Amino acid sequence: MDKKKVVVLTGAGISAESGIPTFRDANGLWEGHNVEDVATPQAWTRDPELVLEFYNQRRKAARDVKPNEGHKALAELEKHFQVTIITQNIDNLHEKAGSSRVLHLHGELFKSRSTADESLLYDMDSWELNMGDCCEKGSQLRPHVVWFGEAVPMMEPAIAETAEADIFMVVGTSMQVYPAASLLYYVEDHVPKYIIDPKLPLVHQRPNLHMVEAKASVGVPKVCRELIEKHAGKG
Ligand code: NAD
Repeated sequence: MDKKKVVVLTGAGISAESGIPTFRDANGLWEGHNVEDVATPQAWTRDPELVLEFYNQRRKAARDVKPNEGHKALAELEKHFQVTIITQNIDNLHEKAGSSRVLHLHGELFKSRSTADESLLYDMDSWELNMGDCCEKGSQLRPHVVWFGEAVPMMEPAIAETAEADIFMVVGTSMQVYPAASLLYYVEDHVPKYIIDPKLPLVHQRPNLHMVEAKASVGVPKVCRELIEKHAGKG
């Protein structure tokens, strides 16, 4: 029997208890910076050193952090369901927890990309990316992240996954960043939808919507246990 398909949209909140600060919890500042100064194409044109240094610090801070009970419960869920994680996070904590199918909507902190040819991606061994670090064609490398105002190429596969979900979960996102937040509206009406967040985001009413006011480390394992009891093996 085919396993049922669980699709999970995660945001910065799922990594908060691992020690990576969220963004909106700090008054819309990201580690003390306005996003316009560090996470836009304009910032890159104006001051690439500042942008590289911002992501170097994020990489340095993220390299030794560990997944929490929220990430782990989602990885464990693969024993019972076909699970796809769609994350807005650029950290790699879902992979570290053992999730096998992770789609990064906003890019990956531990990859760099050519500014001349966006198909040229490189895994980063070091936490540092500097001016003068070039791709094989000789062009400057940039962080492989989607900046505010840039297209989100992974949105198309994310919509396709979401439309096929038998169960949908949203964890730790303020649902204020588009187009990611619009995924909730691609889920079919009959599909159970769980939103897990200690400060529940405002969303339009949808059929079969369950709001779980809890931190990821508590709410995610709880919902996963419920799903296993109710749905696992009933594909
Ligand atoms: P956000 O900062 O806008 O919202 C964070 C959400 O997490 C809030 O709703 C908050 O209530 C919730 N939250 C706080 N603590 C939580 C916990 N312990 N458990 C569960 N939820 C908790 O985050 P966003 O919606 O993901 O949008 C921010 C953007 O900034 C994203 O595009 C992302 O790429 C980027 N970002 C990424 C990281 C990361 O990779 N870890 C961190 C900060 C920002």
